[in-house]
Amino acid sequence: MEKNEENSYDVAVIGAGCMGSACARHLAECYKGMKVCLIGPDEPTLPRSQSGRSVFAAYYDQGRITRRLDTDPVWSRIADRSISRYPYLQESTGIQYYSEVGSIIIGPKQDIIWGKIEKCAKDLQINYNRLNNKDLKSRFPYLHLADDYIGFYEANSAGYISPRGQVKAEIKAAMDNGCQLIRDIVYQVQRSQDGKFIITTESNRVISSQKIVVATGAFTLFKDIIPTDIRKKLAITCGTQTVVKLQVSEEELKDYTGMPCILHRNSSQQNGDWYLLPPILYPNGKYYIKIGHSKDFIREINTYEHVLEWFHGTGDIEAKNTLVDIINHFLPHFKPVSIESDCCAYTLTPHNHVMIGNIAEGMVLLTGGNGHAAKSADELGRIGALTIMNESWNYDISSEEFKLCLNSS
Ligand SMILES: Cc1cc2nc3c(=O)[nH]c(=O)nc-3n(C[C@H](O)[C@H](O)[C@H](O)COP(=O)(O)OP(=O)(O)OC[C@H]3O[C@@H](n4cnc5c(N)ncnc54)[C@H](O)[C@@H]3O)c2cc1C
Repeated sequence: MEKNEENSYDVAVIGAGCMGSACARHLAECYKGMKVCLIGPDEPTLPRSQSGRSVFAAYYDQGRITRRLDTDPVWSRIADRSISRYPYLQESTGIQYYSEVGSIIIGPKQDIIWGKIEKCAKDLQINYNRLNNKDLKSRFPYLHLADDYIGFYEANSAGYISPRGQVKAEIKAAMDNGCQLIRDIVYQVQRSQDGKFIITTESNRVISSQKIVVATGAFTLFKDIIPTDIRKKLAITCGTQTVVKLQVSEEELKDYTGMPCILHRNSSQQNGDWYLLPPILYPNGKYYIKIGHSKDFIREINTYEHVLEWFHGTGDIEAKNTLVDIINHFLPHFKPVSIESDCCAYTLTPHNHVMIGNIAEGMVLLTGGNGHAAKSADELGRIGALTIMNESWNYDISSEEFKLCLNSS
C-alpha cells in the first residue's frame, strides 16, 4: 500500500452526508482546538450509473419534508431541536436551505394515527391546527379529498429543506471552525499498536485518528470500517425508495402557491401511506412536484451488489405506476409536463431510530435514519458528537432509544 499522504486527527468523521456533516460541525464548533476531519465524497457529477463510484448518499435531492408532528416522540423531539437551529445555520453560513411552507398530515378521521399524533403534540407542546373536512377542502382546493378526511396542519416550523443545501451548510460551518474536509472514500480502518485508528482511502491516503465516528448511511456494512465480527451481526438493513418527479408547467405553478408538504396516512388501506412535496425548483431550472411512498414498496436489499445496482437504476416500476395513480386521484387537475422516477436507499433499524453508540473502543456508529433523518440530522449529528466525546451517555433521551442492535447469530 502506498502512503501518499499522512495526517493525524483527534476525531475523524467518516461519511459526509446528512448526519456526518452535522456531527463534524458540532465537533469543530464545540471543541475548539481539537483536530477534526470529515472524510467522504461529494455528490457525483456524472449520472450515478456512469460515475464509477463505490458508495452513494441518500441526500442527492432538493426536497426533504421537515415537521415536528409525529407519532413517535423521539423523532418529534429530535426534529424540533434540529428545526430550531436551521435559522442559525443558514445565517452563519449564508446558505439558504429551508422553506417554511408548512406541512399537513391528511387521512380518514377514523384512522388510529390521530390519537397518537395528538398525544405526541400535547406532550411536546407542538402547535398545530386540526382542520375539518370543510376547512381542508377550502384551504387546499387543488386536492381531491373524500368527505371523511381531516388534517393536522403545522403552518410554522415545518415545510421542506434542501438536503443538498443543508449538507453544504454543515460542511461550510465545520470548515469555518477548522475541520478538514477530505474528499475520498474509506475502504479500510485498522488499529495501530498504539491504539490509533489507521484509515486508508480508495486513493491510497493514509489518515490516523484517535477516535472515529462512522456515518456512512446505506453503505455501512460494505466497507472494512467497523470490526468484522461486529459488522456481521449489526442489525441494520437497507431499504429501497422510489420517488416520482412530475414537472409543473409555468402556467400551473400559480395554482399551487402556498402548497404545504403533504403526508397521507390510511392505516387500513394498501399503499395508504405516501408523501408529496409542493413544486420545488431543481438545478435544471424546472419545477417538480415529488411523491414518494412509505412502507408498502420498501424492499430490503442486503448485499453490496444489490445496493449498488439499486442506486444505478431509476426505481421500481410498480411503485412508480402506483404513485402516478395516486397523483391522478388526489391532484386531478394537474397536467404534468413530464414524469420521471428516481430512486434511493436508506438504512433501517429494528427500533426505527438511529443507532448511536460505541461500536468499538473509540469508534461511534451514527447511522439508521429509517427515512426520517434529513430534517433531524443536525441534532443527530450533535448526539454523535457528544457520544464520541464523553465516556458515558450524556443526553436527555435514554440511550435505549438509540441502542446498537446486533443479530444473535
Ligand atoms: C427518497 C428519499 C426521501 C426521503 N425523504 C425524507 C424526508 O422527507 N424527510 C426526512 O427527514 N428524511 C427523508 N429521507 C431520509 C434522509 O434522506 C436520510 O435519512 C438521511 O440522508 C440519512 O443520513 P445519513 O447521514 O445516515 O446518510 P447519507 O446522507 O446517505 O450520508 C452517508 C454518507 O456516507 C458516505 N459514505 C458511505 N460510505 C463511505 C465510505 N466508505 N467512506 C466515506 N464516505 C462514505 C456517502 O457517500 C454519503 O455521503 C429520505 C430519503 C430518501 C432516499
